[in-house]
Amino acid sequence: MTENSADIIELNGITKVFHTDEIETFALSGAHLSIHRGEFVVISGPSGCGKSTLLSIMGLLDNPTEGTYLLDGKDASTLDTRTAAKIRNQQIGFIFQSFNLIGNLTVYENVELPLIYRGLKGNQRSELVLRALDKLQMTHRRNHLPSQLSGGQQQRIAVARALVGEPKVLFADEPTGNLDTRNGDRIMEILQDLNSEGSTICMVTHEKAYEQRANRVFRMLDGKVVETVVNDNVRNVVSA
Ligand code: ADP
Ligand code: MG
Repeated sequence: MTENSADIIELNGITKVFHTDEIETFALSGAHLSIHRGEFVVISGPSGCGKSTLLSIMGLLDNPTEGTYLLDGKDASTLDTRTAAKIRNQQIGFIFQSFNLIGNLTVYENVELPLIYRGLKGNQRSELVLRALDKLQMTHRRNHLPSQLSGGQQQRIAVARALVGEPKVLFADEPTGNLDTRNGDRIMEILQDLNSEGSTICMVTHEKAYEQRANRVFRMLDGKVVETVVNDNVRNVVSA
């Protein structure tokens, strides 16, 4: 085993430059961070500091301009679109602030979609979809359309879709940002339960109360991680 085998994510010197018209925006300028297997980490920082850009790179939704990214020990900095899509489908779950469910598909079909892309057979898919819906206590809404659900319920479906394929890492970009406190707390509890069952979770949030429940908090400023806070009181499923 190598020294870093506990790290499922390792980012070194990640820079991301966006070119729009004549303007160059440095969304990230030399960000470093690593995430241990089984950890629950929070990324925080002011609006515009690069949190979503960093999450998109870790989630293989975008490539860095410079720097290296190791996902589970393998180079993921320069993947072509097709390979990135395949790895994303098999190893990564993503939860967005705005749920991003497909409006004309039912709850069941939304959760099933990543498994169709993966090429699983119908009976394998239905077993996994029903298990995911059961975990989120949404089985009774399986034939509803997203528009027939509350925001909190829609986000629970988005969580089901993110975890149905048993990904190595779950990324969540302000998953409670569009929810009231009660529904936000519910989503946070669900993520904590998943983490206690072994899922690695990386969540962007502004909520101080949620930061305190993470193993570590990475604070960002101007495209870099400038501070790492370790919450010693939070049990880590791996090191415990
Ligand atoms: P945060 O999530 O912390 O609010 P973002 O990662 O969304 O920050 O954005 C970081 C910076 O990069 C901001 O200045 C933003 O305007 C810029 N940015 C993000 N995405 C793009 C894009 N696709 N094109 C141009 N600029 C972008
Ligand atoms: Mg953002």
